[in-house]
Amino acid sequence: MNNTLKINLKNMSLDEMISLANGLGKKRYTGRQLYKWIIVALNNFKSVDGTIKTVWEIDDNNYIESVLIPDNDRLTLCVSSQAGCPLGCSFCATGLNGFRRNLSSGEIYDQYLLTKSTLDSQTRITNIVFMGMGEPFLNYDNVMKAIEALTNELGASISAKKITVSTVGLIDGIYRLADELPGLKLAISLHSAIDDIRNKLIPIAKKFPLAKLKESAKYYAEKSGNRVSFEYLLIKNINDSLDDARALANFIRAIPCKINLITYNPVEGSKFQRPDEQKVSAFRDYLYPRAPAITLRKSRGVDISAACGQLAGHHNPK
Ligand code: SF4
Repeated sequence: MNNTLKINLKNMSLDEMISLANGLGKKRYTGRQLYKWIIVALNNFKSVDGTIKTVWEIDDNNYIESVLIPDNDRLTLCVSSQAGCPLGCSFCATGLNGFRRNLSSGEIYDQYLLTKSTLDSQTRITNIVFMGMGEPFLNYDNVMKAIEALTNELGASISAKKITVSTVGLIDGIYRLADELPGLKLAISLHSAIDDIRNKLIPIAKKFPLAKLKESAKYYAEKSGNRVSFEYLLIKNINDSLDDARALANFIRAIPCKINLITYNPVEGSKFQRPDEQKVSAFRDYLYPRAPAITLRKSRGVDISAACGQLAGHHNPK
C-alpha cells in the first residue's frame, strides 16, 4: 500500500511553505523559492473586446471566469472566488447557475498569474477586484491567502490598496476584514437602500438588514481610513426611481464613501431590464449634490458577456 501523503503545494501560504521546507531539513530560503515558483497554469481561452474575459477550466470540469479591464493607465483584473455562488441574487447570472465549490487560494492566484503570462513584459496588472464569480467572504480564508500571494514581494507584489474585495453585505466578513486587513479596499453591492427591495434582489440581505450593514460600513471606514465603495446596479422600475435615490442619499449619510452606479445589462433568462437613460440621469443628478463622490460607470465588454450581470458567475464585474 502506498502511504505517501499528497500535499497540494498550490494552496499553501508562505509560512506553511517555509515550515514544509524546514520539516524536510531544508532552509527557510528553499521554502521561499518554492512559494515563488509553485503556482502553475490551468487551461484557458479568451475573448477580446478591449475588455478581455477569460474562462478558466479547473480540475474537476468546472469553470470560472475573470475579466481584464484596461482603463487609461489602469489595468484591472476582476477575479472569481468561487465556482458558482450559493447566494442566488436575482439579477445575477452566477446566482441563476447555482454553486459548485469554493476556489482554493492557488486557483484564485492562478487567475492573476495566467492572465499576466498573456501580457507583454512591459504591461502590468495594476488593480485586482474580487468581483467575479462568488461571494469572497464565503471563502474568506482562501481569498486572504490568495491576497497574501498577490501582495507579497515574492508573489505579485501588488499594493494592498490596489486590491478591492467586494461583498453583497456579509457583515461578519466586513468586521473581520476591518480588523485583520484594513489596508484592502472594500466594495459593498448595495443595489437598494430600501430593505424590502434589497431583500428581493439579494436574498441573503434578510439576515443583514441595512441598519446593521450601515454600522459595519462605518466601522470599516473608521478602522481603515478608506472610503467604502457602494455599488448600485440600476434596474428598470425596480430601484431606479427618485424615491430610491432619496433612500440611497439617506443611507450613505455619515459614511465616508463613494457610489458607483452601473446600469443593468440584460442576461438570458432574466426578468430584469436596462433602465431608461432619462431615469438614470435623474437618479444621478439627484445624488450629485448629496453624495461625497459618485460615478456612473460605462459597462465594459457587453458584447462578450463580460459586463455586470452577464458572467455565468459574477459579482459586479465592470
Ligand atoms: S451577485 Fe455576487 S453574491 Fe450575488 S449571486 Fe452573484 S456572485 Fe453571488
